[in-house]
Amino acid sequence: FTGPQAERHCILAFPESSRLRGAADIENWCQLQRKIFGEFSSSSFGDFQSVFSQPQEYIMELTFNQAAKGVNKEFTVNITDTCERCDGKGNEPGTKMQNCHYCGGSGMETINTGPFVMRSTCRRCGGRGSIITTPCVICRGAGQAKQKKKVVIPVPAGVEDGQTVRMPVGKREIFITFRVQKSPVFRRDGADIHSDLFISIAQALLGGTARAQGLYETINVTIPPGIQTDQKIRMSGKGIPRINSYGYGDHYIHIKIRVPKRLTSRQQSLILSYAEDETDVEGTVNGVTNTSTGKRSTGN
Ligand SMILES: [Zn+2]
Ligand SMILES: [Zn+2]
Repeated sequence: FTGPQAERHCILAFPESSRLRGAADIENWCQLQRKIFGEFSSSSFGDFQSVFSQPQEYIMELTFNQAAKGVNKEFTVNITDTCERCDGKGNEPGTKMQNCHYCGGSGMETINTGPFVMRSTCRRCGGRGSIITTPCVICRGAGQAKQKKKVVIPVPAGVEDGQTVRMPVGKREIFITFRVQKSPVFRRDGADIHSDLFISIAQALLGGTARAQGLYETINVTIPPGIQTDQKIRMSGKGIPRINSYGYGDHYIHIKIRVPKRLTSRQQSLILSYAEDETDVEGTVNGVTNTSTGKRSTGN
């Protein structure tokens, strides 16, 4: 029962029912505790944080929309924190802690070493001034216990894949790294989003309107006549909130012109008439014998 280690290891009081009271028995009792609790009780209560203070890291899966718009997401963490059953006191609720007789409740003891009088932390109670006679069944007297905690993580709008946030849980801190799933509709570039919009040949030629899926609502897109494939229409402020500044990014709608694979006979003859009037054709058009530039078709 010598040295600071021996003092610090012995957290639980000697069992009341025990008839063993000698110094050797106390030492044995402490060794037994060391075996039971291992590292758990190897530090004094003040040092507890340092033993478990390595930050815990978690991965959180988010859908594209959750990351873009923000979400309050419930999350379960396994964390060592103040025991909820005994509120960190270490004794079983309803039982009383005994005043430490060894130090008279002061938590300090006085050792007379010849000319010097030394005051040090009470070896019996570890400086707490009281002794746990009935240890808490959950934390076994340690006052700290591993526990599952449900926490709600307020995921801010605009988080990106791989970003990490720090959050307090109880007296601890955890790190959460976001994994953002891909969207079948949107591609992301910072706060801007991109999507494709398929329009018909007639829409491309004559202009019109189309409906595109937006991040927040359906967007009515005005198509100007003569729009080209891969032309982008910018919907200002319809993107993702900027995480480090104000405002929103933009939504870029990429135009794709859908060419029909089949035509009705009426469409066929109309498009042949159209082709006959085309002036800038390099080469030939099937079915058109004479293009206006005088080129001949292959004759189908
Ligand atoms: Zn407890
Ligand atoms: Zn004491």
